[in-house]
Amino acid sequence: MTVTIEQNVALAPFTTIGIGGPARFFARVTDIDALREALDWARDHSQPLFILGGGSNLLISDDGFDGLVVHVDLRGVTVESKDEYATVRVAAGEVWDDFVAMAVVRGWAGIECLSGIPGSVGATPIQNVGAYGQEVSETVARVEVLDRRDGLVKTLTNWDCRFSYRSSLFKNYERERYVVTAVTFRLKVGGNATVRYPELARFVEERGVALDDLQGVRGAVIAIRKRKGMVLDASDPDTRSDGSFFMNPIVDASLATEEMPHFPASEGMVKLSAAWLIEHAGFEKGFALGNAGLSTKHTLAVINRGGATAREVLALVELIQRRVREKFGIELQPEPNFIGF
Ligand SMILES: Cc1cc2nc3c(=O)[nH]c(=O)nc-3n(C[C@H](O)[C@H](O)[C@H](O)COP(=O)(O)OP(=O)(O)OC[C@H]3O[C@@H](n4cnc5c(N)ncnc54)[C@H](O)[C@@H]3O)c2cc1C
Repeated sequence: MTVTIEQNVALAPFTTIGIGGPARFFARVTDIDALREALDWARDHSQPLFILGGGSNLLISDDGFDGLVVHVDLRGVTVESKDEYATVRVAAGEVWDDFVAMAVVRGWAGIECLSGIPGSVGATPIQNVGAYGQEVSETVARVEVLDRRDGLVKTLTNWDCRFSYRSSLFKNYERERYVVTAVTFRLKVGGNATVRYPELARFVEERGVALDDLQGVRGAVIAIRKRKGMVLDASDPDTRSDGSFFMNPIVDASLATEEMPHFPASEGMVKLSAAWLIEHAGFEKGFALGNAGLSTKHTLAVINRGGATAREVLALVELIQRRVREKFGIELQPEPNFIGF
């Protein structure tokens, strides 16, 4: 056996919100064989398994995880072909934003609006990472996985992944079945940036950034995100978070009042702004409850104000959900994954 199984490893440092007790067992895997060994070890020792990427979309319980945490750290970027489109295979453990930066420098369009998002490449298909009018589902060609049911390496097409708003096969229908080992993207060589989101469109226009200037659009996205505390920055406590803690609810159009900002979703449905609902349910930016709180820049980000526990975060989350439910009759769904509760 080549993989090392450590014991009692603190998980908080592996998360962007800096919360969570220890993993009973922990393994970092850098190749598929080690990943297989780790999965076999968990099965042979009857241990529950959790797959950890960059820890930017997790709320881990104060008691930690009573099982094996496998930190996927597979590396490598391979350009498989390049003509009108660049087909690029990226190993799951690569840092997402490093890959976006690389694509932008090379003039490969399709992921520039997803600049500044923390985490690993392998996690991006899980919740169909999206921002500023783009989602990875638009450019994911294939997802390579290790199927925990039979231990085989398989390749899923974009269609197989059943992507939808902040969701996919991996988050919904086949939760915990697959470990993503690599994602292949298809990006338009020399393409223009996709600027659909009004706030970004305004920003880009005001600064005279051309749509074929992917670097300029990336810069604009990062600048807008920074204003909202949505780019990790050790010196900015507002970024000690999971990003947006709640999804924008998609509800029957009849539930939306005129004053609520709403955007067309599927037929008869509208997407509401979770941030607006939170604010209008009485929570201001910077609201604090014990050591947990809301970012001073954005009501959608729940932050660790210093020394917060998962229990404190949950108390705040439940308070927000309750007040939004009471005021608007709408249920806010958390976006992060809750581990060890
Ligand atoms: C400041 C900030 C801003 C953010 N902005 C955005 C945003 O704009 N848009 C957005 O969509 N998200 C955003 N997020 C959330 C987060 O960055 C993304 O969801 C990211 O893709 C999570 O990646 P990760 O590697 O950190 O995953 P983790 O947090 O480690 O894991 C998340 C989930 O994916 C699973 N997982 C991870 N890797 C694998 C794998 N290889 N195989 C199978 N399952 C796996 C885990 O088991 C877990 O269920 C933000 C977060 C922060 C902190």
